[in-house]
Amino acid sequence: MATRILLVDDNAIIRFTYEVVLRRAGFEVDSASDVDQALEMLAPGHDYHVVVSDLNMPGKSGQDLVTILRETPANQMLPVLMLTGSKERCDVIANLNAGVSDYVTKEPDKAVFLARVRNLVKMKQLQDELAHASQTDALTGLANRRHGCARLEEEMSRSRRYERGMTVALLDIDHFKRINDTLGHHAGDDVLVAVSERLQAASRQTDCVIRWGGEEFLFLFPETDLDEAAGIVDRLRADLAANPVDATAPEGLIQVDVTVSGGVAQLEAGDTLESLVDRADKGLYAAKENGRNRLLVSRDGELEPVAA
Ligand code: GH3
Ligand code: MG
Ligand code: MG
Repeated sequence: MATRILLVDDNAIIRFTYEVVLRRAGFEVDSASDVDQALEMLAPGHDYHVVVSDLNMPGKSGQDLVTILRETPANQMLPVLMLTGSKERCDVIANLNAGVSDYVTKEPDKAVFLARVRNLVKMKQLQDELAHASQTDALTGLANRRHGCARLEEEMSRSRRYERGMTVALLDIDHFKRINDTLGHHAGDDVLVAVSERLQAASRQTDCVIRWGGEEFLFLFPETDLDEAAGIVDRLRADLAANPVDATAPEGLIQVDVTVSGGVAQLEAGDTLESLVDRADKGLYAAKENGRNRLLVSRDGELEPVAA
């Protein structure tokens, strides 16, 4: 993937000069001529690695840019290299306090400038790797519970703000202990990975599949009502029951029959994350009690099977 730099300077000649230097060094560069334009380009979802910004600009300054970025969770750690005239050295402390990552003066030694940019790019890549690792379950590659809870909280407030439905489903593999006991822990891991892949394949782009616990998964369906979500999960349940998954046992590649049970619940007024998941968990518990390989839907305080 290309390494992308956003250059912010009100002076077109300086922008042009640094664009050339950065492009020659292999970077992809976009430019903004003021802080407001830069902030638009740094909206959530942007893929810049480093911002190189002028300090003094008409309107908002480079320090204002950094201060605003540091207040936005997604840009809290985004490296910013400040370009200054050498006479502005007294601003250094204020700038660093505001969260500037590094400094370079404008009578540029191009090699020093590029070395500083490369250092910040490495820092950003490392940050991205750490952020990904801290959000991901190592075995299955699904969202881990910590990240899952953050996503749930986010979706709950979004759902309330825009008055849109939101549904969760808690799924648990049936008799998973038997799989471990008869085929070994390795095959058990393979089954977890294979089931995770099926869940991920059944989810839409805006859904989130979370490894909630050992062999327990939580599906988050934003903007989805109870019946729609229950339909998706029940098709998935039936598909899993009908199509065994591959696993490697001591005797070689085998096919393992897997079924899941689950509970489905919709966000209600006054819900906390715990109370919402707890309703799904009650459905899951009842599905286990009622013979497994089934889903129960929590509706108006009652548990009911998925409508055919
Ligand atoms: P039920 O149908 O009631 O859910 O029965 P179960 O056997 O699936 O449930 P139980 O909670 O008794 O056992 C779950 C097992 O999952 C126990 C635990 O050792 C195993 N497990 C949890 N995490 C992992 C893992 O990462 N890999 C493997 N191979 N096994 C795991
Ligand atoms: Mg289980
Ligand atoms: Mg379990």
